[in-house]
Amino acid sequence: MTSVQRVYIAGHRGMVGSALLRQLSLDANVEPILRNRDQLDLTDQQQVKRFFADGGIDQVYLAAAHVGGIHANNTYPADFIYRNLMMQSNVIHAAHEAGVQRLLFLGSSCIYPRLAEQPITEEALLTGALEPTNEPYAVAKIAGIKLCESYNRQFGRDYRSVMPTNLYGPNDNFHPENSHVIPGLIRRFHQARVAGAETVTAWGTGSPLREFLHVDDMAEASIYVMNLSQADFTSCTQPMLSHLNVGTGIDCSIKELTETIADVVSYTGRIEWDARKPDGTPRKLMDSSKLRGLGWAPRYELRDGLKDAYAWFLENTPTY
Ligand code: GDP
Repeated sequence: MTSVQRVYIAGHRGMVGSALLRQLSLDANVEPILRNRDQLDLTDQQQVKRFFADGGIDQVYLAAAHVGGIHANNTYPADFIYRNLMMQSNVIHAAHEAGVQRLLFLGSSCIYPRLAEQPITEEALLTGALEPTNEPYAVAKIAGIKLCESYNRQFGRDYRSVMPTNLYGPNDNFHPENSHVIPGLIRRFHQARVAGAETVTAWGTGSPLREFLHVDDMAEASIYVMNLSQADFTSCTQPMLSHLNVGTGIDCSIKELTETIADVVSYTGRIEWDARKPDGTPRKLMDSSKLRGLGWAPRYELRDGLKDAYAWFLENTPTY
């Protein structure tokens, strides 16, 4: 009989953490360990140290992060770099000190250079300048990968990282300005339909290309990577890597995405483009062939995933 693993999900109320919790809760061999923000402030080193010292934790999913869309990243850069550096440094170091051998760090595709060759392979990390709108966030996430690698090299830990492409789904942040494109537009189209408005404004030119992954697919990939044997994981990350890309391999223009969301929400009015808002990086398509080669594949088609995200929005219409 396998013994029950005590698995700490940092950030279990966020979009990725809550998806991880839904899936891990189905496994009788996992005891999820959870702390709300008011019980454990991950930016506070002493609190995090105490939590791990007392915890008897076997595995850590580090899904706690300060996240937001292009406008939020551009407007609050200090929050994005400071909060993420603090949370990840505290958790990774305290996990190591408490003897936790396996940890999974969740990063982001924005760690790669703005003009990386497409599709972007894991090897593109640190080969060029970053996209300026989210550079502080990206620098924090790169530091997270390097923290994991350093604890592996110096102390023989097995800390792995996964780099998801743009995510969406239940528990996303539907804030009018600070959200990512999918929740931002779901909300705007929905409100326009309900109000009978004839025009919705989307940001930028609509020409950038993005790849989108449903968060349940991301949770499945994360659990898959966490539980790969060390031999399987290192077989595809050697000689020097500790991170794996997670994406669908399919991208679309923001214009196409916008039209699909309008359709899913049944909004039939006009769409205008506000070119004063930033486009961000021109294209961000990941090469996820290393992970695909190990047997993982996403389940959601974009349109079905958008329907699921909209259904969640309708049931849980946020109050902000
Ligand atoms: P990014 O991948 O870091 O650029 O993250 P976002 O999801 O915030 O933005 C993706 C693209 O969608 C950018 O080109 C935005 O300009 C565009 N976009 C169009 N409308 C919106 C919107 O309402 N909200 C956001 N966040 N982006 C939008």
